[in-house]
Amino acid sequence: MIKDSFNRVHNYLRISLTDNCNLRCFYCMPEEDYEFTKASRLMQADEIESLAKIFVNEGVTKIRLTGGEPLVRKDAGQIILALSRLNIDLSFTTNGARIHEFLDLILEANITSINVSLDTLDADKFHLITRRDIFAQVMANIRLLLENNIQVKLNVVVMKELNDMEIVDFVEWTKDYPIEVRFIEFMPFAGNRWTSNKVVSMEEILQQVDSKYTYYPLAAGPNDTAKHYKVAGHSGSFAIISTMTSPFCGTCNRMRLTADGKLKNCLFSESETDLLGPMRNGEPVLPLIHECIGNKAKALGGQFSGLLQDIEANTIHNRSMITIGG
Ligand code: SAM
Ligand code: SF4
Repeated sequence: MIKDSFNRVHNYLRISLTDNCNLRCFYCMPEEDYEFTKASRLMQADEIESLAKIFVNEGVTKIRLTGGEPLVRKDAGQIILALSRLNIDLSFTTNGARIHEFLDLILEANITSINVSLDTLDADKFHLITRRDIFAQVMANIRLLLENNIQVKLNVVVMKELNDMEIVDFVEWTKDYPIEVRFIEFMPFAGNRWTSNKVVSMEEILQQVDSKYTYYPLAAGPNDTAKHYKVAGHSGSFAIISTMTSPFCGTCNRMRLTADGKLKNCLFSESETDLLGPMRNGEPVLPLIHECIGNKAKALGGQFSGLLQDIEANTIHNRSMITIGG
């Protein structure tokens, strides 16, 4: 069992397969020219499988693959199939662009729920945010998942005056479709030009929903990062990931493995523990895993707390989101 010094059991691992991506979301990629990590510096498929097995032997029951964009990696299918043979709940987070190429594999791997990121229901705005003109493809792929009875959780990063006026449109989508729309408060990462006045808080999101619907809260799971709600009579639901205004660190069970094989004990941790180098040198990595998680801060990587307006993004030492994976 992997426990931190606050007695939190860590049984959920997120593995980034690559920092490469086929989209260029401005809030995720650093603003300066970004060079993707060379393939030789990334964990290879067999190394990912070996590390995953070590975590599963230590009690991990859930693995989520992420990126960058996990599905741009050439051997993504091979990795997904290998991990699907472990006795775990396996899923991934994707921008949705390539789902149609992976549908058979998703079904073969018995993946029943996928997180797809989509910040707007407007094709031009999609192009503006992602710098790619593939809104229709992503929408078609979301429909494809639903047609194949795969649960879709839609990740929507909400930003002021960009897409906050679409909150009710997203909730309207849950009327006839069994999707879960997850509104995410905009978070600060290296190079993403975060300022507190661009954040739309959980309270503001709920106010918007309240202007049109009657909604009620749903029961929370023991390690939920999202607060769940449903509009009466809708087949789907919505949720809010309130990292910035109401963090959920007290029940955190998450660990993150970056594509270059570094373990992060928190999304906002400054420190990282290299597992890939020692593994390639034939050294044991299990003590490193326990030490890394043992050093986890109580909340938010120990890097910030308190009121939004007081957070100074330039004092937070971390990677860019595209190199962590969310
Ligand atoms: N490429 C995949 C995707 O877009 O779903 C997986 C990686 S992406 C980094 C994972 C999630 O992080 C996405 O839902 C994305 O919207 C979210 N994300 C990226 N930057 C963020 C930020 N600054 N604040 C909040 N969420 C962010
Ligand atoms: Fe790529 Fe996902 Fe980041 Fe957008 S949010 S740039 S799709 S990794």
